[in-house]
Amino acid sequence: MSAPVQERVDVLVIGAGQGGAQAAAALRLQKFAGSIAIVGEEPDIPYERPPLSKEYLAGEKAFERILLRPAAFWAEKNIELRLGTLATEVDAAAHTARLSDGSTLGYGSLVWAAGGHARRLTCSGHDLIGVHSVRSRADVDRMRAELETTTNVVIVGGGYIGLEAAAVLSKLGKKVIVLEALDRVLARVAGAPLSRRYEEEHRAHGVDVRLGAQVVCIEEKDGRAVGVRVIHPASGGAEGAEEVLPADMVIVGVGIVPAVQPLIAAGAAAGTGGNGVLVDLQCRTSLPDVYAIGDCAAHPNVHAHGAVGTVMRLESVQNAMDQATLAARFIAGTAASDERYTAIPWFWSNQYDLRLQTIGLSFGHDEVIVRGSLGHGADARSFSLVYLRENKVIALDCVNAAKDYVQGKALIAAAHLLTDDADRARIADPTVPLKSLLLTT
Ligand SMILES: Cc1cc2nc3c(=O)[nH]c(=O)nc-3n(C[C@H](O)[C@H](O)[C@H](O)COP(=O)(O)OP(=O)(O)OC[C@H]3O[C@@H](n4cnc5c(N)ncnc54)[C@H](O)[C@@H]3O)c2cc1C
Repeated sequence: MSAPVQERVDVLVIGAGQGGAQAAAALRLQKFAGSIAIVGEEPDIPYERPPLSKEYLAGEKAFERILLRPAAFWAEKNIELRLGTLATEVDAAAHTARLSDGSTLGYGSLVWAAGGHARRLTCSGHDLIGVHSVRSRADVDRMRAELETTTNVVIVGGGYIGLEAAAVLSKLGKKVIVLEALDRVLARVAGAPLSRRYEEEHRAHGVDVRLGAQVVCIEEKDGRAVGVRVIHPASGGAEGAEEVLPADMVIVGVGIVPAVQPLIAAGAAAGTGGNGVLVDLQCRTSLPDVYAIGDCAAHPNVHAHGAVGTVMRLESVQNAMDQATLAARFIAGTAASDERYTAIPWFWSNQYDLRLQTIGLSFGHDEVIVRGSLGHGADARSFSLVYLRENKVIALDCVNAAKDYVQGKALIAAAHLLTDDADRARIADPTVPLKSLLLTT
C-alpha cells in the first residue's frame, strides 16, 4: 500500500491573527509567487483585536468592520486559509507540521504567529459561567450576549484591556469595579503619573478602582459567577478583611500565555523564563527556516532599556505588523542580509475621550517630565509624559496630543540628549513644539 501523499506549501503561517495575516499579505506584496497557507485556531477570517475591548464591545462596530482585509482578499491573493484548525506538532528536521484535523503539512518556511491565550485565574470559580477573557471575537460575543442581564461587573486586572473594558461598560451604565493587585493601574507599561491620572478618570466616571486587591475566589450560584471574594484592598476599608463583591459578570484581564508549546517541543529556544519563543533581530527562531513574530516572539529590542534587559515580548499591533513584514521580506528574498528589527515601538489605548498614544519603551526611565497639566478631576484632557534615561528622551505617553507623539518620535529616533534645564523647561511647556528641541542642537 502506498503512503498518503503529504501536502506541502512553500510558506506555512501558524496563526490567523494580526501578525499571520500581515506576513501572508506582505509576502504577496513582495511578489512572492509560491504557495502560502495560514492555519488558524479561530473559525473567523483574520480580524483586528484592538476593537474587541473598545468599539466591538460597545456594539459600535460590527464584525465586518474589524476585518483585517476584505473577505475576498485571501482567495484573490491565492492565500489558503485553514481555519478552526490548530497546529499541534512541528518536526523541524522534516519541515512538517501536524494539524488538529489529522493532516500533516510540509513547509519550506514556517512563520509562527500564534500569539497567546488569555491567562486565566487559578482560584476556585475561575471557569464558571459569567467569567470572561477579552482575547477573541468569541469571548466578546459571549460577553455581549450577557450584557442585557448584567448589572454588576468586576474586572480583574488594571492593564489596558481591563481599563478599556471598564470605560465601555461604565458608559453602558454598568456598575464596574476594577481590582488591581499592584499599587497602581498600568504599572507594567506606564509611569506613575499616568497611572494616577487614569485612576482618577475612571473614578470620575463612577468606576470603583481598588488597588492592592487580591482575588481569593469567584463565588457561584447554580454554576454561575455571582461574586468575587477579595482580600480587602487598602483603598477600600478595613485592611486584611475579606469581602464578596457582587458580580453578574467577571472579566479577567491579567495578560496572556504565549502559544508556543509545539515549537518549544520541537526544540526551539524559549524566551527567558519560558516566556515565548526566542528570535533574533531578524525574527528567526533557533530552528531552521522557522520565524516567529508578534505577541509570542521574545526578541531583542534595541529600544529596551534598564534592568529588565533587552529581550522582551511586545503585545502590540506595531510589533506584530513590523515583525511580520520583516519576516516576509526575508522569505521573499527582498530584505538585505544585514537588515534588523529596529522599529520604535508604539501603542494606543482609547478610554472615554482620552486617546493615549505611546511611543518608545518607558521602562528603565530615570526621569519623567510632565508636559502640560495632568490636572485634577476631569479638566485636563491633553498632556504628555516624556520619559528620560541618562538625559535622553526614550519614550512618551501622549494623551490627546498627537503632535507630541509625532514630534516625540523624532526625538527618540535622534536619541536626543538634553543639555540643560532650559531643555527640560521647553519640554514641560506645551506651547513649545517638541521638534524645536531638535533645531537647537
Ligand atoms: C482586547 C485587546 C485589545 C487590544 N488593544 C490594542 C491596542 O489598542 N493597541 C495595540 O497596539 N495592540 C492592542 N492589542 C494587542 C494586539 O491585538 C496584539 O498585539 C496582536 O493581535 C498580536 O498579533 P499576533 O499575530 O501576534 O497574535 P494574535 O493576533 O493574537 O493572533 C494569533 C492567532 O493564532 C491562533 N493560534 C494560537 N495557537 C495556535 C495554533 N497552535 N495553531 C493555529 N492557530 C493558533 C490564535 O487563536 C490567534 O487567532 C489588543 C489585544 C487585545 C486582545
